[in-house]
Amino acid sequence: MSEVVEFSCGSCGSQIQVEAHLRTATCPYCASPAVVERPREAGRPQPDFVLAFIVPHEQALAAARRWVRRAWLAPEAFRKAKVDAIRGIYVPSYLFSAAAHAEYTARIGENYTVTYTTTDSKGRTVTRTRTETEWHTLAGSYSAYVSDVVVTASRGIGNHELEGVEPFDLRALHRYSPRLLSGWIAEEASMTAEVCRELAVAEAMAEVQRRIMTILPGDRQSDLQVSARLADIAQILMLAPVWVLPVRFADDRVVRLLVNGQTGKVFGKPPRSWVKIGALVLLSVGLVVGGVLLAQR
Ligand SMILES: [Zn+2]
Repeated sequence: MSEVVEFSCGSCGSQIQVEAHLRTATCPYCASPAVVERPREAGRPQPDFVLAFIVPHEQALAAARRWVRRAWLAPEAFRKAKVDAIRGIYVPSYLFSAAAHAEYTARIGENYTVTYTTTDSKGRTVTRTRTETEWHTLAGSYSAYVSDVVVTASRGIGNHELEGVEPFDLRALHRYSPRLLSGWIAEEASMTAEVCRELAVAEAMAEVQRRIMTILPGDRQSDLQVSARLADIAQILMLAPVWVLPVRFADDRVVRLLVNGQTGKVFGKPPRSWVKIGALVLLSVGLVVGGVLLAQR
């Protein structure tokens, strides 16, 4: 980036960097006008890698329009909201990897079939079968490398939102160079590395648990207890390409849509109109009652 201006948003806490000629008056994350220009802070970590945008503006905008128009259960004000302020943002995120060593115990159930005789309602002897499960306890250890865990480092974009548009194709990582950001908005890491590490550790632990689940033997499994530790942790700051559309509608509510700038995957939760849902419920109750009345005639 040649000449860079920094803004911080008083509403969502994000810290946006734009080239001087892209000067903005609203926050690209939350459409709030509460952005203030501020001097660059020294000592903030520089990104190590960048994933470049592949999905072009028109494609992201078209996907956003479809998403808003097709939100049938959303309030009309939302579906008629203006959809044009979609902005491509390089979202700061941490790429995390570690070696995981886990010990686990679980209850493993093996199914078997039991044949038995009984008498039916007419007093005849019949042979039936039923499935029973024999349970035993299994203990084991599991070691593996957990890589490609991506967590947000932005106060503007929640981790569940970033997860919503994952995965990113990490084979396309470029070494960071300011020239890659030219013409785009970028955010500085606005969450500390420590907070992000906690997020990443939780994701990595969940991943280890998932993987152990898939290797457990038996027909049924229960009571899985995993105790894992992580070693050789690497945490790399990268910029992830995300199209962000804050839809501001009605009583100043904002709902946000994200489009993965690399794959086009869309994530967002449209608002619900309780009037529409209520009408739908009444309609279905009406249909059921009508059906019952018809059946009784
Ligand atoms: Zn904001």
